Amino acid sequence: MFSKLYNEAIITFNMETTSPLFIKANEDSSLDPTSADNTYLAFYKDGKQVPVIPGTSIKGVFRSNAEAYIRALGLGVCDVLNNPCGNIINKEQRQQRKKYDVVEKYARSCPICKVFGTTTMKSRANFYDAFPDGEFKIGKRTSVGIDRITGASRRGALFDFEYVEYCDFKSQIKLKNFFPWQLKLIFDLFDRVNDGLIAFGGLTSKGFGRIEVNKINLELRYYNSSKLPEGYTQKDYFICKKVEGEEVYKIFKDIRIDNNSVKRCDLENEQIL
Ligand SMILES: [Zn+2]
Repeated sequence: MFSKLYNEAIITFNMETTSPLFIKANEDSSLDPTSADNTYLAFYKDGKQVPVIPGTSIKGVFRSNAEAYIRALGLGVCDVLNNPCGNIINKEQRQQRKKYDVVEKYARSCPICKVFGTTTMKSRANFYDAFPDGEFKIGKRTSVGIDRITGASRRGALFDFEYVEYCDFKSQIKLKNFFPWQLKLIFDLFDRVNDGLIAFGGLTSKGFGRIEVNKINLELRYYNSSKLPEGYTQKDYFICKKVEGEEVYKIFKDIRIDNNSVKRCDLENEQIL
């Protein structure tokens, strides 16, 4: 079922910094006070230094915040650190001496693994690196080093760190074979970013990493539709619709993320948004 391509959602958007964004300059950073913050932003060197937010980092932030959000909606989520769905499924397969197909693996996964993937099942959401869309400004500060193990500041250990003072990043998320609730989840997370509930990078406890998501464009593609719903254009292999601005949110007004919607596994008969 999922070996076939049914639909795609291509979300293009900007992530504009509204507070400084910490960029991790190198891997060896035992004196780096932010290393305990698990910072993951890096410079991309292409002749000159250009800030980039790696897609894997954006995905990580979205995944961990999606977990909290889905839990708050009262839906069950696996313990991704200690017993993720991938492990549970592998154990079941061993005990029952059978192999689940991809639909069965999908059906047995929690809502988060259904979107972001597990060790046994590919993610259906691809997050792309975010690059500057126009001018950006890099800042530099000197900070006191903090011992990674003890948390105590090391006397006299000063170091410089660079961060993004301002940047309007452009990025993209693609969902393949998505269910409507999964697309809504991404947009609900955009709202939470804009509400200041989700921050990126390091030093977030000091107010770094606030982002505004804007300039959102959504392209919906359906590959096996026999009809051409209103607003859609027929292409060679698919029908598509492009939506932007406030119109994007109208698409989700009747979509719920609840026990019924997250259980859906049949893309063949899924509604066209
Ligand atoms: Zn899971």
